[in-house]
Amino acid sequence: MKVLVVNAGSSSLKFQLMDPETAEVMAKGLCERIGIDGSMTFEAHGEKIKEEIAMPTHVEAMTAVLETLTGPKGVIQSMDEIDAVGHRVVHGGEIYTESVLIDDEVKEAIKKCSPLSPLHNPANLMGIEACEKAMPGKPMVAVFDTAFHQTMPAKAFMYALPYDCYEKYSVRRYGFHGTSHRYVSQIAAETVGKPIEDLKIVTCHLGNGSSITAVDGGKSVDTSMGLTPLAGVPMGTRCGDIDPAILRYLHQQNPDLDFDDLDRIMNKESGVYGISGVSSDFRDLDKAIEEGNERARLAVDMFCYQVKKYIGAYAAAMGGVDVIVFTAGVGENGSNIREQVLEGLEFLGLNLDEEKNKERGKVNIISTPDSKVKVVVVPTDEELVIAQDTRALAKDLI
Ligand code: AMP
Repeated sequence: MKVLVVNAGSSSLKFQLMDPETAEVMAKGLCERIGIDGSMTFEAHGEKIKEEIAMPTHVEAMTAVLETLTGPKGVIQSMDEIDAVGHRVVHGGEIYTESVLIDDEVKEAIKKCSPLSPLHNPANLMGIEACEKAMPGKPMVAVFDTAFHQTMPAKAFMYALPYDCYEKYSVRRYGFHGTSHRYVSQIAAETVGKPIEDLKIVTCHLGNGSSITAVDGGKSVDTSMGLTPLAGVPMGTRCGDIDPAILRYLHQQNPDLDFDDLDRIMNKESGVYGISGVSSDFRDLDKAIEEGNERARLAVDMFCYQVKKYIGAYAAAMGGVDVIVFTAGVGENGSNIREQVLEGLEFLGLNLDEEKNKERGKVNIISTPDSKVKVVVVPTDEELVIAQDTRALAKDLI
């Protein structure tokens, strides 16, 4: 079976053609600058090409993807070989607790959730509509970032605001990176050789955006991101949790700062970038620390401290922790970050194997064999989950 996985952003479209059963990736690529001029990077047969192609809308981008997939450098003869399409959709609100086949009702629901994710949902919908135009009748599935977290109990997802805010405006914690947390918790359970139903797992998705999730018995019971992906630990450029009164205070101190400015500051100018003044990229921070940059040191210290606090909080929330999982760019590669996050957690019965912690690029238990809490690095693969969900829902329609 061949599934096309699509992740559409406002001016970009990431795609991957893959076999959900073998996890083989036949081709992948990225359309960028949609609506501006347009370019496509395309990787297949171990070769990478980049082309400038006019892409006024996502429809032209999708057409270019299909033409390249079926062209001389492509991997299929015709688009009939694509069995189904899986779409990453950021916000499914409280409506979707799992992936669904896309129909008009689902598209309407995605639109309805747009105010909760104004940067992503409209773009995701554009990707869906572009595929419908280019491949009419092809079964399509929506896989939501929020769905995995819909098992959180009310005491974890409610904010202590007037109840009206929830009832009238749907203000609550939704959580994000759900596809990744679901995948890495499953792989970690398999890796330690225990049924996920018997495990208390803390998954740390640490990338440019970061979130921590408490997974009890295979279900998300709490997560660090909130109504939006701004909450939780400090991130590349996002501030994470702050005292909400800071916004009014900043406005009082400098009335020129309106809501848009404050939003930009919190989303784009904060996090490890805002503290260090160097970069949002942890590799640059490592280099700056080596050169003696104190603020880069502080940014990384703050990040690790907050991740550690979430691990402790979630161990308390679940009444223990059996497995801690690290994933995404920083979680998979930053051995120094993992070490710093876990330092001092020996009281939980955790012992890090320093040599194993230095290894990279594979599923790996990096705690010592006698460690009560297992620490596992799992490279995340959201595309594979999207392809697998798409197969499960679309296989009877093909
Ligand atoms: P992601 O959002 O999952 O793509 O992760 C991006 C983040 O991963 C960036 O901040 C990178 O600095 C970080 N990253 C990637 N490779 C490494 C590495 N070798 N060491 C430390 N951080 C890394």
